[in-house]
Amino acid sequence: MSIAANIESLQLDLKPIGVCLVAVSKTKSNEEIMEAYTAGQRVFGENMVQELVDKYEALPKDIEWHLIGHLQTNKVKYVAPFVTMIQSVDSLKVLKEIEKHAAKHGRVIDCLLQVHIADEETKFGLDHADLIELLRSEEFASLQHVRIRGLMGIATNTDNEKIVKEEFYELKMLFDGIKASFFNSVSSFDTLSMGMSSDYQWAIEKGSTMVRLGSTIFGKRVIKHFKLKDGDN
Ligand SMILES: *Cc1c(COP(=O)(O)O)cnc(C)c1O
Repeated sequence: MSIAANIESLQLDLKPIGVCLVAVSKTKSNEEIMEAYTAGQRVFGENMVQELVDKYEALPKDIEWHLIGHLQTNKVKYVAPFVTMIQSVDSLKVLKEIEKHAAKHGRVIDCLLQVHIADEETKFGLDHADLIELLRSEEFASLQHVRIRGLMGIATNTDNEKIVKEEFYELKMLFDGIKASFFNSVSSFDTLSMGMSSDYQWAIEKGSTMVRLGSTIFGKRVIKHFKLKDGDN
């Protein structure tokens, strides 16, 4: 199927159940992105800062760009002027940097806190204790230019359905618990980003409200060599 046909059929499935589709366009060309755009897609996700900035500059300005890869504090300044959502916040340090640059641009930037749910050392994210400590901190309470919209997680890269579903279930439970404890009257804490091409149906079954799909839409990516860490900026 074409990129356009993939977008149309995914949106047909996801819109009625209130699941937001993030089209993950990393490594894909502007032409391929425009094919998805022309089919009506507006939310796109990238994992590298430089690639995100280049695409933002070249492509239509009504695209909502989500950063989904690990963000180093010294790169925050490049995305702060335009990014719609940063899904990969994994420390108070980076959050404070986002606050600083968002304030400079008179913006409030939507963020998700990335939680480590996978049974793998390599995936970024906060563990439960770090997450609670961050949310309880006075510094967090003072942030005016970041809006925490929810949580994001990446499941273990396995085709073992039971393992992946358990990880999504745990993240959903954590989301509900965090919402009740820290965002009880905050209606904008509404986003649980979980599910990629290989596991998004399981994620939706477990309560995902946002899926991040790359290869399902655009086809397989050519693997770039000699990247130290996937998505490390
Ligand atoms: C690449 C990537 C995706 C999309 O992966 P696919 O398997 O191509 O759907 C989703 N989330 C993150 C964080 C990614 O880096």
